Amino acid sequence: MKQSKALIQTLREVPRDADVVSQQLMMRSGMIMKLAAGIYDYLPLALRSIRKFEQIVREELAKDGCQELLMPTVQPAELWQESTRWSFYGKELLRFKDRKDADFCLGPTHEEVITDIVRRNVRSYKQLPMNLFQVQTKFRDEIRPRFGLMRGREFIMKDGYSFHVDDADADRGYWEMFNAYKRIFSRLGVKFRPVEADSGAIGGSFTHEFHVLAGSGEDGILSCDACEYTSNVEKTEAPRVDPVDHGAAFPLRPAHFQTPGVTAMEEQAAAFKDAEHDGMPLHQTSKVYWLEAEILTPGEAEPSRRIAVAAILRGDHELNPVKVKNAVGAADLQPMPDAEDFCGAPAGFLGPIPRPGTRHAALHADPKDRLVYLVDRSLEGAVNLTCGANEAPGHHFGFDPKRDLPMARYADLRLAQEGDLCPRCGKGRYQAFRGIEVGQVFKLGTKYSKSMNCVFVDEQGKERPMVMGCYGIGITRTIAACIEQNYDADGIVWPWPVAPYQIHLLDLDPGSAEVRGTAEKLEAGLEAAGFEVLHDDREGMSPGAKFKDADLLGFPLRVMVGSKGLKDGVVELKDRRTKEVRKVAPEALVAEVI
Ligand code: ATP
Ligand code: MG
Ligand code: MG
Ligand code: MG
Repeated sequence: MKQSKALIQTLREVPRDADVVSQQLMMRSGMIMKLAAGIYDYLPLALRSIRKFEQIVREELAKDGCQELLMPTVQPAELWQESTRWSFYGKELLRFKDRKDADFCLGPTHEEVITDIVRRNVRSYKQLPMNLFQVQTKFRDEIRPRFGLMRGREFIMKDGYSFHVDDADADRGYWEMFNAYKRIFSRLGVKFRPVEADSGAIGGSFTHEFHVLAGSGEDGILSCDACEYTSNVEKTEAPRVDPVDHGAAFPLRPAHFQTPGVTAMEEQAAAFKDAEHDGMPLHQTSKVYWLEAEILTPGEAEPSRRIAVAAILRGDHELNPVKVKNAVGAADLQPMPDAEDFCGAPAGFLGPIPRPGTRHAALHADPKDRLVYLVDRSLEGAVNLTCGANEAPGHHFGFDPKRDLPMARYADLRLAQEGDLCPRCGKGRYQAFRGIEVGQVFKLGTKYSKSMNCVFVDEQGKERPMVMGCYGIGITRTIAACIEQNYDADGIVWPWPVAPYQIHLLDLDPGSAEVRGTAEKLEAGLEAAGFEVLHDDREGMSPGAKFKDADLLGFPLRVMVGSKGLKDGVVELKDRRTKEVRKVAPEALVAEVI
């Protein structure tokens, strides 16, 4: 490919709103352009890497007999209502109506659609197990799209789903995919770890995430230095705190309401109703949400009134602590930076409500589950999860039905941290890493097959729900993650398997017929040998400028052809990663590269 004709517009300056290395480098190297928040054009260079990674994924999945299909991006609400996720998915699910006023959404994932396909096509145990996958564009209306392709709203995912006759076979299928993922990420040539993870909103019974290790990773990983145990910090087993010392599970009682003194909105009624139903009061004003709770300690007849408050400004509202304080009546409100993901920009606040007998309490927002946890900081070292509020349909706030409200056993719930003794082996200590979640495997069980009636007829002629697994890989995020792990001050340092081109051939003197002729010959020779070559044949550019671009683009090998070298009968071959340069006779170059 001739660079003079290629759509590769490099930038010297770091784009203003690019906040991680991969995003900066992908924008500067002309791989991607931002079209809207979290929505990017994949320009030719990016698409080459994407396609190469997809190819690796396809090859490895083929080894396990997985079949590729392609499902629609636009999905009818009915399927999501059947699985009940229409109600639980929240705003990440982009919903819209067609001209007939029917509800649709853009697929953030495809459990419903695949389950529908299988229930309409597979009847007998003889057809199982079956593993189906697609490589497809997903849309998730992420609360804070950021970091370029790492957290986009539109992105490419490989999503696979397996269907089995029983639990044992679903387990086998799970580990088969686990091993396929290990092969896939090994082939990429990046440092990665499979980690035990929290099954979260998908509701799987067990699950692993695959993380590319990188300092910029959004996830914390803890790994025992003595045994195999590696886990997402959200889920890592913490050392047990003796429940006798800290109190056993205790009920959380609804506190009485305080009238917000602000005009109630229509949704407020619904929110209140549900909140009461779950035994938790909840206030809502047009701009501020908060909740209160009383905690009843075992052995105490009266609640000790540890009351906490979360005041959360919604969406586009100004971050104004004074307004929040006035509305909520709480003192010492602290900005809650870790609530940003939960409540959206700008942020939330937390603080105790000043009342007699109040002990220090605070709220902790978990961006992943979109839950607000009540955290009692008066109990030394222990974090108790005692209640949750979650965004739900029909009203702005509801409660997470998965949680066993309002009981909690706080002693088990301190997050693990680096240096903790590993409870699995009892010998090692946790080491901390940062990771980028590039893939996840779930054992789903019968959650979707039961709610959507995806059944098969077994050997005895009896109808049974299929047991399912699902398996995702963020294709575009993985490409970005490769860069997060492989770059230097000058640009990207591509791992060979997903480099857009493997060789950057620089013609340093396009005015010279000899140089041009040699470069043309090398391009043809390298391509004939199976290499992908970008030939920088651009005229009117200094060698220095070409070197800079080549460093930025970061293909693994660079071949430099110039008049000076040719006088000595050589071209130069440079390794992008080691920066090692070898002088080679043009005729010997192809053999040298192989
Ligand atoms: P995260 O925790 O980062 O939000 P997730 O757990 O919601 O990711 P999954 O539902 O497990 O994501 O989807 C499978 C894969 O899709 C993820 O492992 C990740 O690589 C990718 N992915 C998820 N969300 C995004 C996104 N917003 N942008 C790019 N890739 C994504
Ligand atoms: Mg997510
Ligand atoms: Mg995740
Ligand atoms: Mg995940």
